[in-house]
Amino acid sequence: MIKLRDLYFKPFISEGEIQVAVQRMVDDIANDLQDEVPVFIGILNGSFMFVSDFVKLYPKPCEVTFIKLASYEGLKSSDDIQRLIGITQDLTGRTVVILEDIIDSGKTLAEVHRIFKNENVKELKIATLFYKPEAYKKDFKLHYVGIEIPDKFIVGYGLDYNGLGRDLPAIYQLKTTQHMTNLVLFGPPGAGKGTQANFLKEKYNLVHISTGDVFRFNIKNETALGMLAKSYMDKGELVPDQVTIDMLNAEVEKNADANGFIFDGFPRTHAQAEALDNLMDSKDSQINAMIALEVDDEILVERLLERGKSSGRADDADESIIRNRITEYYNKTAILKDYYSAQNKYFGVDGVGSISEITDRLSSVIDSL
Ligand code: AMP
Repeated sequence: MIKLRDLYFKPFISEGEIQVAVQRMVDDIANDLQDEVPVFIGILNGSFMFVSDFVKLYPKPCEVTFIKLASYEGLKSSDDIQRLIGITQDLTGRTVVILEDIIDSGKTLAEVHRIFKNENVKELKIATLFYKPEAYKKDFKLHYVGIEIPDKFIVGYGLDYNGLGRDLPAIYQLKTTQHMTNLVLFGPPGAGKGTQANFLKEKYNLVHISTGDVFRFNIKNETALGMLAKSYMDKGELVPDQVTIDMLNAEVEKNADANGFIFDGFPRTHAQAEALDNLMDSKDSQINAMIALEVDDEILVERLLERGKSSGRADDADESIIRNRITEYYNKTAILKDYYSAQNKYFGVDGVGSISEITDRLSSVIDSL
């Protein structure tokens, strides 16, 4: 991801993909024009990189020149096209190929056609590297199109955002979702994840999703998901990955406007961690940190048995089920420490102390992100 002025952009079209498209356009145009010596006219500023790469690959003699039109203001293509440098040579009887970096609404193209109306060229052809079909509002024929793209703002390879980004060799797309903070609160059962999540969600204005709570809610309401999950949960085993992943995706979708999430009890397996990365990626976002509450096993058993006296949770009432949940954590879940450590996102926090002391420890990690 890159930042240009106030906005974030994510990689969209690689250098390699651009070169393939340019080469294809070169081949098509050279094939159509045969032995004609064309005049390639780039539309400045955006097309300079495309024109440069294009003519280097063009296999036959050609002339190259530019006209300069200005149409973009910030993110919007404006109505007011200014002609800053017009045609400076006689093009009578010549085959002219316009090389445009991008065609969206087609306003610049309308201006190009106005410019060429009285030039008596033999033929005027339009070639554009990028084309936004959803935005195009004109009828002018586009003879050669490199890559069709959705109607999203892009920068790079000659295209700018308020002057920046033209130098990038690849294309980046504007990130449309706001910046989110997404945390995985990690730790064995009884470590205090739920308690701490309640404080942190208020403090940082995040949505707390506890997969255990969602399962319990479904069990209480006797949904099909609840019935399925119950058989595993009562034994202290993990609910199957696909069931849990589908449920988590649905919970995230319900909170599309969130500032970010605290995931509590998820991910618990490698497959879930990968699914979570994909989900965040689809939201133009990422997991910022896994924060683990570290607590000794014997303290956990003690805490859970104490909680079981009032929580009504079957899996908190029996010491052997509690120990099974802790074993499940170390067998299946603790490997996620490596997953997030490899991305420098793992932060261990001492989970023994008063609730507010632990909240302070967690907050100092979050504030440092
Ligand atoms: P918790 O409230 O986080 O201790 O979760 C209680 C139980 O719900 C666990 O023992 C599992 O049976 C089930 N569960 C919660 N989250 C997950 C998950 N991410 N993957 C599989 N099972 C889960």
